[in-house]
Amino acid sequence: MTEKLLDNVKRNYYTIEERIAEAASKVGKSRDDITFLAATKTVDAEVINYAISLGLKYIGENKAQELLSKYDKYNLNDASLQFIGHLQTNKVRQIIDKVDMIQSVDSVKLAKEISKQSAKNNLTTNVLVEVNIGSEENKSGVMPDGLLELLDEIKDFENISVKGLMTIPPICDSKQKISKFFDKMNNIFIDISGKNIDNISMDILSMGMSADYYEAILSGANMVRVGSSLFGARNYNI
Ligand SMILES: *Cc1c(COP(=O)(O)O)cnc(C)c1O
Repeated sequence: MTEKLLDNVKRNYYTIEERIAEAASKVGKSRDDITFLAATKTVDAEVINYAISLGLKYIGENKAQELLSKYDKYNLNDASLQFIGHLQTNKVRQIIDKVDMIQSVDSVKLAKEISKQSAKNNLTTNVLVEVNIGSEENKSGVMPDGLLELLDEIKDFENISVKGLMTIPPICDSKQKISKFFDKMNNIFIDISGKNIDNISMDILSMGMSADYYEAILSGANMVRVGSSLFGARNYNI
């Protein structure tokens, strides 16, 4: 780990903070209304902890195995660890007592397993439901037209608490196109909020990554997940 790398992380961190604040103010919100979660896949715990020392409060991992291998090294006194990737039901047990939220619930089966494993650990786990907003094949997330049914089926699971929605939109070649997906997602979020479904709260709308978190905030996101803009391009070969 070089000093140059940390210097870059520091500079990037403050740039992202500023852009979040600027986007928030454009939609009449304050900086504190937006949660900045760092997507930490492939990033060493030492670098993650450096970002935490700068003030980063939320980190998100994608893979259960990677999370477990780094778990003992994170400084979680000052930050919240969340799970943001696709989660196989057979991995739930391994991470359930280690994460503050699972952002990627997209089936009854997964929700049921999270609730069951939470109960075993005397926990209630906060979850977001992941929506496949572009209705893309072979992508995780519930299809938009299946969302209400899924919420209805999981709302009475005792040991989970649904806190909102998460999405990863399709790859787009313009900001305009991606904003359309963010707007669509925000409309769904508002629509579900208005239904006041028992045991379902719509507090968190998690969308926007390095390339588009600014646009996501303009479209209503109150949580953004930023990886490469903070830590630099990922090297999957290490
Ligand atoms: C990697 C990842 C991100 C961040 O992606 P960047 O483009 O590097 O900012 C956000 N959300 C999820 C679910 C991810 O896997």
